[in-house]
Amino acid sequence: MNRRIFLSTLALTPLIASNFVKESSDIYLSYQEYIALENLNKRLKRLSRFIGYANFNIVSFNDALFYGRNYSAIGSFTKEELSLVDKLFSENSKQYGFYGATTCSSLNNKISKKDVVKIPYTGHYLFKGKPLEDYEKLKKDIGDTLVLTSGVRNIVKQLSLYCNKIYNNGGNITQASVEIAPPAHSYHTISDFDVGRRGWGYKNFTADFASTQEFKKMRQLDYISMRYNKNNSYGVRFEPWHVEVI
Ligand SMILES: [Zn+2]
Repeated sequence: MNRRIFLSTLALTPLIASNFVKESSDIYLSYQEYIALENLNKRLKRLSRFIGYANFNIVSFNDALFYGRNYSAIGSFTKEELSLVDKLFSENSKQYGFYGATTCSSLNNKISKKDVVKIPYTGHYLFKGKPLEDYEKLKKDIGDTLVLTSGVRNIVKQLSLYCNKIYNNGGNITQASVEIAPPAHSYHTISDFDVGRRGWGYKNFTADFASTQEFKKMRQLDYISMRYNKNNSYGVRFEPWHVEVI
């Protein structure tokens, strides 16, 4: 198609034209970065299997490097993987359409086991103090059908969820950042947690959770809030399952 016919086609089909503009403004990883992402993703999964799902939630970045160096079941992080980690942790996330605050400024943030409590049968931790108190109150007010689906997440865990999203979006960082906070910006690293309805599996992480009795009861309570409302200022999708600790 020559350029003139192509442009007139665009003019006749504004929907296609607007989709084209939207897609082209999204930011993607380069091909080399995408290869590094694939390897990093696999290495983080091997680390999680090696140290266990619960430990993976709170492991520090330096400890992850140590495990990689010392255990061949994981293997050392490569130069390319480390420079990708640096980019994903340090870059200004506003360019990806994510407007949330920085919640953690150190890639090597440490979470002490003294400051958290492991919640039985969940594989997750909560910070002592208000988050733990809120969760215990929620269980009392809503009942045993309410379960903890994600608690404390240190940088390595958030990084692995973020990498997985970028991978599943074909290297599209902008789209991934709508679905999950970049690693320096998660409130799971300092306070918040996710809840769901017992037996609901992956549906607990969809907008369907807003139709449950558990969610409706939660909305009546004044000691918690919802961090990611519809059309929130963070640029994050609607997440009814994500409890804001206030
Ligand atoms: Zn969450």
